Amino acid sequence: MTENEKPLNFIEKIIEEDLASGKVTSVQTRFPPEPNGYLHIGHAKSIVLNFGLAEKYNGQCNLRFDDTNPEKEEIEYVDSIKQDVEWLGYKWNGDVHFTSDYFDQLYDWAVTLIKEGKAYVCDLNQEEMREYRGNLKEAGKNSPYRDRSVEENLDLFERMRDGEFEDGKRSLRVKIDMAHPNMQMRDPVIYRIKNMEHHQTGDKWHIYPSYDYAHGQGDAIEGVTHSVCTLEFVEHRPLYEWFIENLPVPSEPHQYEFSRLNVNYSVTSKRKLKQLVDENIVKGWDDPRMPTISGMRRRGFTAKSIRDFVESTGVTKVDGVVDVSQLEFSVREDLNNVAPRAMCVMNPLKVTLWNVPEDMTEYLTAPLHPQNEEMGTRTLIFDREIYIDKADFQEEGNKKYKRLVIGKRVRLRNAYVIEADETVKDANGEIIEVRARIIENTLGNNPEDGIKPKGVIHWVSALQNVDCEVRIYDRLFNDIAPDAGGKDFMEGLNPSSLEVLTGCKGEISLMDPKADVPYQFEREGYFFLDSDSVIDAHEENEKLIFNKTIGLRDTWENK
Ligand code: ATP
Ligand code: MG
Repeated sequence: MTENEKPLNFIEKIIEEDLASGKVTSVQTRFPPEPNGYLHIGHAKSIVLNFGLAEKYNGQCNLRFDDTNPEKEEIEYVDSIKQDVEWLGYKWNGDVHFTSDYFDQLYDWAVTLIKEGKAYVCDLNQEEMREYRGNLKEAGKNSPYRDRSVEENLDLFERMRDGEFEDGKRSLRVKIDMAHPNMQMRDPVIYRIKNMEHHQTGDKWHIYPSYDYAHGQGDAIEGVTHSVCTLEFVEHRPLYEWFIENLPVPSEPHQYEFSRLNVNYSVTSKRKLKQLVDENIVKGWDDPRMPTISGMRRRGFTAKSIRDFVESTGVTKVDGVVDVSQLEFSVREDLNNVAPRAMCVMNPLKVTLWNVPEDMTEYLTAPLHPQNEEMGTRTLIFDREIYIDKADFQEEGNKKYKRLVIGKRVRLRNAYVIEADETVKDANGEIIEVRARIIENTLGNNPEDGIKPKGVIHWVSALQNVDCEVRIYDRLFNDIAPDAGGKDFMEGLNPSSLEVLTGCKGEISLMDPKADVPYQFEREGYFFLDSDSVIDAHEENEKLIFNKTIGLRDTWENK
């Protein structure tokens, strides 16, 4: 299906109606992360949706940091978020925006509300406020401070701004209706006292606006037409609209909600991901096991595969959990097309090919991609001594075992057919070497005696190869829904989600691996150079580390 044939999702339908009726003349969206953590796969969905809508309708998408809570926010997160959005392939409109850019305006509008008798300074503490709010069955009670005079409110609000009061001592609330069936409308707080520095505004402010107050006004200031957010904000929409109606905002944005993306065997909440980082369960936000965009990038997922995946999940109003294998499918599909091939032996077993002359080195040519000639070729070195994987040899095989067995033949991928003769064992009876021979004239041909090899295995020269470490990842959680129903997600951790293999041997085309190229190690899967690697031209300190991005097939189900 081409882009134009895809059925429209419900937000696209709304946009097309709005454009047709002239309600809007161009589309402006925004992606509004709070810089309190690194972005995860769920955010990728919001990014692809918001930037995608702007692209599709020749509009613009802003990147706006929703930085109303200095307590949990940091500049490190701002930088990582920008990097992730760009890496996913999107360009925001103009400069990056910050909700804090609008703090002056938001303050002035709060003063407007006070002057119109629509906002008041309240001295109830959090607990009292909760009591006064009532619940879904019971109406709330008016705050005893609700009827303060405009003058007193203006004075107190100014003093709140100037840092005269302790944190939490007072707040500014809008006067809506304490009996409103929607709890969000029961005089919500729009400013809190927090005597705290902010990463953008320094020590200028002692009060900070609430998300609900700041968000829609930020949208209006930026001319956002379609403010797309996740379903948990449905209840907040009447409040969003109340502010737009009651403030002299320069435009009238509308909020639309879609369902969050949840992936099984995973958690997608910055708070929980931060806990994994803080408690050293993982090695950082970009640990390749993390469902963060930076983790997936480090592991070797491509931006395209992430975009394809989130698009395949659709845009709906129904919450659900997507199977992680759907993400892995998109990753495999893209990598299969773009990854150059190489061979790497994870658990080396030496094979001496006794009928190959000792001083002979043969240079063989192999395609970088079997289905894409344009990618070109690579040179393999074939020597008398090679390594194969321990798992690819058995002294005695059986019908199902299509690899190397004493007295049987196998083809070396991209090279000759060989036949195994005997093993060499150490004092413990461990096989340390296999002695085998090549069958002449089998480069690209079947053996002339008609005895065909049973299978194909990968190999590297034992004399000339590239040493590397390979990191193999399993799911971070064994639990299919680690945080469902209030469970402690830490209990669902998989204790063996990382396996480190050292002494792996790669073919010489991996000598200068490219940091941004995903490789397919033939028969093993897809691998990506890890950022812990040290590439050293003099090779003294060189350390190559490959992350296993994903196997060639989905083996999880058979586990
Ligand atoms: P978290 O709980 O991980 O902190 P959040 O919603 O608080 O998530 P924000 O930084 O506020 O994180 O999110 C920025 C945007 O991304 C919001 O519009 C939010 O709705 C959207 N978003 C966050 N998580 C998901 C998700 N799992 N699926 C789709 N969109 C999401
Ligand atoms: Mg949040």
